[in-house]
Amino acid sequence: MSKRFLIAGNWKMNKNAQETRAFFNQLKNLLTPTIQSELLICPPFTSLETAAHYNQTTQIALGAQNVHPELKGAFTGEISPAFLKGLVSYVIIGHSERRTLFGETSAFINQKLHALLSAELKPILCVGESLQERKQNKAFSVIETELEEGLKGISADQASSLTIAYEPIWAIGTGETATPEIAEAIHAFIRKWLTNRFPQQANSIRLLYGGSLKSSNAQHLLSQPNIDGGLIGGASLEPNSFIEIARIADQIRK
Ligand code: PEP
Repeated sequence: MSKRFLIAGNWKMNKNAQETRAFFNQLKNLLTPTIQSELLICPPFTSLETAAHYNQTTQIALGAQNVHPELKGAFTGEISPAFLKGLVSYVIIGHSERRTLFGETSAFINQKLHALLSAELKPILCVGESLQERKQNKAFSVIETELEEGLKGISADQASSLTIAYEPIWAIGTGETATPEIAEAIHAFIRKWLTNRFPQQANSIRLLYGGSLKSSNAQHLLSQPNIDGGLIGGASLEPNSFIEIARIADQIRK
């Protein structure tokens, strides 16, 4: 049986509480007929409570865009996994914007991963190469290193809570999308890496594609055998375009 797609929206630093309310009120009316794919929205921290009010009526899962590895203490401005527990089910870690703009290392991301697993929250680990790395034929080795370092020390049991998002940095927010062939080649590589490491779990771990995914390119990307959903930035900000991608996914895995 094929896996359910995960269609995830990463809002980044967009939508205050009022805008979040408007989004979900509009989205509610777009959910019939029922969507089969799993839907996930990752709003800013300050909009999570507002989004949580819609959980019951919309069945949309919530995620956070970041977390700190410690449970509490002198970490000004940070958010603990304990605060997220009960509010979200997924947490994005290792997004390229966190790596490049905020200097997050794979070692730090690995600490976050362990903290999330201990709190029974589901990590979405992002990996992806820059344009320069792709041009230098380093895409596969960059991904391999990010997987090695990011997933260091996790058990096979813990691996079943993972989601991995392949997000080529050159495709994020640029309007440029990886071709389905490029995306599938990396996804197949990630699946093989996971199979070597976690033979029992590898096939059930969802691999998402992210990078200017939208309704006009979703069909080809989501039809690839190793792509199990999308991590969507820009196109998740508007209820119609987000739901359209989910409906395309539903058509592929009926
Ligand atoms: C992202 O932020 O994870 C992303 C893929 O953004 P966009 O869809 O806008 O490229």
